[in-house]
Amino acid sequence: MKKINLLLFIASALLVTSCATTTNNSLSGVERSQFLMLPASEVVAMSGQAYNETLQKNKSDKTLNTDAAMLKRVTAISNRLIAQVGVFRADAAKWAWEVNVEKNDDLNAYCMPGGKIMVFSGLVEKINATDDELAAVIGHEIAHALREHGRERMSQAYVQQYGLQALGALAGDSMIGGLATQGAQLGTQLFFSLPNGREQEREADRIGLELAARAGYNPNAAVTLWQKMSAQNTGAPPEFLSTHPDSQNRIKDLQALAPKVMPLYEAAKKG
Ligand SMILES: [Zn+2]
Repeated sequence: MKKINLLLFIASALLVTSCATTTNNSLSGVERSQFLMLPASEVVAMSGQAYNETLQKNKSDKTLNTDAAMLKRVTAISNRLIAQVGVFRADAAKWAWEVNVEKNDDLNAYCMPGGKIMVFSGLVEKINATDDELAAVIGHEIAHALREHGRERMSQAYVQQYGLQALGALAGDSMIGGLATQGAQLGTQLFFSLPNGREQEREADRIGLELAARAGYNPNAAVTLWQKMSAQNTGAPPEFLSTHPDSQNRIKDLQALAPKVMPLYEAAKKG
């Protein structure tokens, strides 16, 4: 009985300390409190390993940064967005950001925890994306990382799988050791197999829109982007559409927020 009480005590203590919000309040209106049990440093380390493995595989497949002009364009847009991340959280300005392009016909892009960005060539080519539209997609992906949605999903999955035992073990540090040894493989599995929830997608849309406006990209492009994406929605759905069967709601939400961030865009263009 004593042991159970101890576990419950540890669990409640962890729940209290792990419910927090990752980003500052902003025009985006995103303020939700989050469940973040796993240590951020572990999640970032696992993600970094997984990203490096992807880069190695792409290198051997000759699919990494094969188009120099496209890489230059995607990197320039990403860097303008990254220059604004401090508005949402000061520490993110110092993350080890990285941008690469994978030769892949799928309409997709992602930003792993800690700022590891990958854009698929298909996303740029298939919808003939403008710079403003690319900024909308990359801004959305960066927003997932700023909000630590990956860590949130991993935390939820861990509790579902291991329950109180994992929480108890976490306090004893043995789970952390376990996580580290499972490393990149676990990072990849957790990151790619757990889809973002609808609320997380909405947050990424809203913060992404504000981030793009602050970087001097037209927020109205988010709407044309999702319209183009919906029109292309054949075969396996990309990350953006898979959890958004109702893309009309998403477009309405973006249309409502766009006028609010428009002054940020106007100011950034002048500056
Ligand atoms: Zn998303």
